Amino acid sequence: MSPVFHCYIHIPFCHHICPYCAFYKHKPGKLANDAFIAAILSQLDAEKSVLAEKLDTLYLGGGTPSLLSAVHLEALFRGLRPFISPETEVTLEANPATFDLKKARIMREIGINRISLGVQSFQTGILKTLGRDHSGEDAKIAFEILREAGFTNISIDLMFSIPGQTESLWQEDLDIVTSELKPGHVSCYNLTYEEDTEFLKRHESGELDENEDRDANLFYQAIDHLEAAGFGHYEISNYGQSGFESRHNRAYWTGKDYLGLGPGAVSTIHGIRAKALPDTARFVESPTLKTEHETLTEEDRRIEAIAMQLRTREGLRINRVCSTNEPCSIETVLRSNPIESMTQQGLIEIRDERIFLTREGKALADPIASALI
Ligand code: SF4
Repeated sequence: MSPVFHCYIHIPFCHHICPYCAFYKHKPGKLANDAFIAAILSQLDAEKSVLAEKLDTLYLGGGTPSLLSAVHLEALFRGLRPFISPETEVTLEANPATFDLKKARIMREIGINRISLGVQSFQTGILKTLGRDHSGEDAKIAFEILREAGFTNISIDLMFSIPGQTESLWQEDLDIVTSELKPGHVSCYNLTYEEDTEFLKRHESGELDENEDRDANLFYQAIDHLEAAGFGHYEISNYGQSGFESRHNRAYWTGKDYLGLGPGAVSTIHGIRAKALPDTARFVESPTLKTEHETLTEEDRRIEAIAMQLRTREGLRINRVCSTNEPCSIETVLRSNPIESMTQQGLIEIRDERIFLTREGKALADPIASALI
């Protein structure tokens, strides 16, 4: 069996719960403690036999991993150390106002070499709409602290499609990123109204509006601005300067196996997808307990490949569109609906036996993927 080169660790703690967020998270209470770190390491110990000697990527997401104390981060990385080499991409998701220079230096010293900073916006009104608990100034200070601590690989998360967000406010955010902060990587996510969130209820009641034309314009504005500033648009939501593309995300998009550790974390290994219990207290008691096991069929993998690879700069291999149950040739696919009609509408392009989204198609990636499935 081939070893697994990618590992994700879910840290579910947030000081403040954002009303649009659908991730498994909660306030730390008394749970961000030694026993939580011990549970992660005990799960790692129980499942490490699948891992490669050294990981290609390790990603700490959440939640807010930067909320962990320096002592807990050090304890966690003592256990992770054997799996990390100088070449491993080690990312930590961080929020502004959750670390100071001393903690940032420790994060760098223990082996974290990439930070994904959750900024979302630098605008006071937009941050208020999103219910974030930091200011634009906090975000800039956090970025400078990371630079001072020696982080050269920093990604900034921004958000668009937010009610009240005008093109000029969005432009200010993009300008701050490219002219002032100059990170190597930017992620731009559009706000979506997810199940079981306060925002979905407020959206359904008509309080928070959605406007597809505005969203598409803000999306194109980001592409134009970031590409002009030298960022490659290598996935619908992700832009990187050369050499700063996220290797961890690429592993997901290309269907690589990964081990997930922590409450609610998902693993996909050798055709089995398993999910750990999304309940931190019970996770600490039983770190290896899984709530769901699903065997992925070839057809499942094909559908996931369409949904994810179509979003990437490398495009989707055209034979992925053929159902695994029926024989088909590339010529048949090219003549089939919806490929032919979407090509004529200028939503997709076919080159080198791959399907690529055009500029117009990028704004409609999800419905296009559904049509191809
Ligand atoms: S900080 Fe991040 S993970 Fe936590 S609630 Fe807000 S969006 Fe969700």
